[in-house]
Amino acid sequence: MPELARFRAKHGPLEERAAEAAASILHVDMDAFFVSVELLERPELRGRPVVVGGQKDQRGVVTAASYEARKYGVHSAMPLRTAGRLCPHAIFLDGHHEKYGKWSDRVASILVKFSPVVEMVSIDEAYLDLAGTERLHGPPLAAADKLLRTIKESTGLPCSGGLATTRLTAKVASDQAKPSGLVWVPPGGEARFLAPLPVRKIPGIGEVTERALRALGLETVEQLAAVPQEKLERIFGQWGEALYRKARGGDSYEFVIDAEPKSISHNHTFGEDTNDGNEMTTTLSHLSQKACKRLREAGLAARTLTLTIRYTGFETHTRAKTLAEPTQLDADIYAVFQGLFREHRDTRRKVRLLGVSLSGFTHGNNQLDLLEAERREKLARLTKAADRLRDRFGFGKVQFGGSLSAEDLNKRED
Ligand SMILES: [Mg+2]
Repeated sequence: MPELARFRAKHGPLEERAAEAAASILHVDMDAFFVSVELLERPELRGRPVVVGGQKDQRGVVTAASYEARKYGVHSAMPLRTAGRLCPHAIFLDGHHEKYGKWSDRVASILVKFSPVVEMVSIDEAYLDLAGTERLHGPPLAAADKLLRTIKESTGLPCSGGLATTRLTAKVASDQAKPSGLVWVPPGGEARFLAPLPVRKIPGIGEVTERALRALGLETVEQLAAVPQEKLERIFGQWGEALYRKARGGDSYEFVIDAEPKSISHNHTFGEDTNDGNEMTTTLSHLSQKACKRLREAGLAARTLTLTIRYTGFETHTRAKTLAEPTQLDADIYAVFQGLFREHRDTRRKVRLLGVSLSGFTHGNNQLDLLEAERREKLARLTKAADRLRDRFGFGKVQFGGSLSAEDLNKRED
């Protein structure tokens, strides 16, 4: 079993019995799935840089790249034209999603033979709980090895696996195992396994968090794990608690969605299409404050604010504004939405839906830092107090008035 040998080399001797008793979460991930499926029909392309998603002069993005293409910096979600520039000699293939779906089903039909608990989380990855399957397939490690070999032999598609005590650790392990490997992290070994990795390897930590952590001098999981929870919460809000947990290999059951948000949105559909300006600005204020509260809870500040207006008949207009500095303050954000609304609303038409969306996130309250210290403290205190009241009494009960500015907040606090 070469994969086991690889694991042992990585982690040294194991207390096998204890380990196998508890590390039963297996993350299975197909290697460069779309490329691998295409290569079943084009075996002559094996070992060459292959890009799936379209031709290199087309619009659109890469949906998969072979490991040979990745060496040139090509990765999925990258524009095809960029991939063409980075790796002009790559073979570009159109994608065939129906075909991938069928192969995914075949893989799934193998997975369910190994455990009653299988969760496909995307077309090419799944989590299995191997606890209690010993009588059929042996201890989890042996079962995992047999499972990966079965997939490879019966489909011809390469895959990798990670076996650990938590879903998060299992996912990181399968990534480390690629291509065509299996990495087992024994119970108690999670922190040691994760320590040397860059923070970005942790599921849910994206570019924004990576940047914020780097600014704090934190590049590896080990460095992140050394920061006290209170400090992370002070900087990142609720997200800080998740970071603390993740750095130790822990996850909530739904860690797939326990990730840094890309945008925060709130919409309201009017009971009846309206052209009542007051009703609309009140709604806008409400939506804006709701979004801001979530923004602060996530410890984020936003730079890009997008207003959506849908008129009778479903015609939808979106208008965005990008600020010079990110903000997390109700008053600033509402003022922008109000401006966008005044400027772009067609007053001759009735409105069906209003929506606000915040994106372009950075961590921390950068903008508060720019304000003069005393005023900043008052604003932060008031905003926090309002958020607390909202948690207690429900959102609708505690709102700043529609026209409230930062100065007004200041006065009210006094
Ligand atoms: Mg994959």
